[in-house]
Amino acid sequence: MVGGGQLARMTHEAGIPLGIRFRLLSDTPQDSAAQVVNDVVLGDYRDLETLRAFSRGCDVITFDHEHVPVEHLRALEADGVAVRPGPDALVHAQDKGVMRERLTALGIPCPRHRVVADPADVRAFAEDDPGAGGFPVVLKTVRGGYDGKGVWVVSSEAEAAEPFRAGVPVLAEEKVAFTRELAANVVRSPHGQAVAYPVVESVQVSGVCDTVIAPAPGLSPEAAAHAQHLALTVAHELGVVGHLAVELFETEDGRVLVNELAMRPHNSGHWTQDGAVTSQFANHLRAVLDLPLGDPRPRAPWTVMANVLGGDYPDMYQGYLHCLARDPGLRIHMYGKDVKPGRKVGHVNTYGTDLADVRERARHAADYLRGTITE
Ligand code: ADP
Repeated sequence: MVGGGQLARMTHEAGIPLGIRFRLLSDTPQDSAAQVVNDVVLGDYRDLETLRAFSRGCDVITFDHEHVPVEHLRALEADGVAVRPGPDALVHAQDKGVMRERLTALGIPCPRHRVVADPADVRAFAEDDPGAGGFPVVLKTVRGGYDGKGVWVVSSEAEAAEPFRAGVPVLAEEKVAFTRELAANVVRSPHGQAVAYPVVESVQVSGVCDTVIAPAPGLSPEAAAHAQHLALTVAHELGVVGHLAVELFETEDGRVLVNELAMRPHNSGHWTQDGAVTSQFANHLRAVLDLPLGDPRPRAPWTVMANVLGGDYPDMYQGYLHCLARDPGLRIHMYGKDVKPGRKVGHVNTYGTDLADVRERARHAADYLRGTITE
């Protein structure tokens, strides 16, 4: 797996019972996954020769992030390396402009959008495109954004200067008046077997995923099946291999629009570690190895995942005594990362039959571990 973050750490964990030998390409020995994997190659994923040396002897390579240049992935494929997901799929998770164009061509509903060249172009989009609905509009760098970095909401041409400073193409989008954000997660194998997880609600705070509720409360079976079908269609049409997260906006009239795609295990699927028969990490590995996929169904009526963000206390373990004693059903997943305020350093999962109770337990543990509550 290329990339040493927490997704690689948890994918490695899921491979242990399957006896899968796991090699990691990581920037530093301190990276989340590099701390626990024994076969670590240190190097830069932007360097083709490093990728070549890393993949020699691997049956397949897959990714913890979407930043490996597609031209390098094409070169590896030309060398005979199995790259999953492959570059033709992955480019849609790397470049929001390419993704919007392709999904629109497939007839999949997206926010109104246009790639814009400068602030005057942003104003033209806001004022002339009937679907844009005027200011405010959302601007995004087409590449390199994550956790809300690379996303701006601007109310005028003058405010639109900032996103262009990076020199990366910018995508303008209508600001969708969504009622909530959902995610439809599916896994697809090379010969086309696919499974769909229950559609979840993801609650974002300041552009960062805070809580995920599985399944999305109050979502009708028809709406859930529609969202799952949409995600399976995207996986099939784009030839995705592995886990695909389709982030969705639900609108007041019950429609869903696609916001983003991620072709790797995803934060909206962390609940599956404890709440589904087969986790997203195990199914991602099965898919990239072309093994039969595991059952995606939930183990309990409700599962809630809450991210643990870094707080003001550097020691995340001080809360363990209280949290573990208070809730023996609590599942903690920490990433071994240094604590910085606002940084995702772990998550907790809770599950059960009473949603209010399951939510409260997850929320309490995440807040307590962070240090924002003390009892
Ligand atoms: P990132 O790549 O940083 O995850 P996203 O495209 O997912 O960026 O955007 C981050 C957040 O910004 C979304 O979760 C959503 O809350 C908000 N957002 C993004 N696009 C729009 C839009 N077109 N309309 C309204 N809100 C948006």
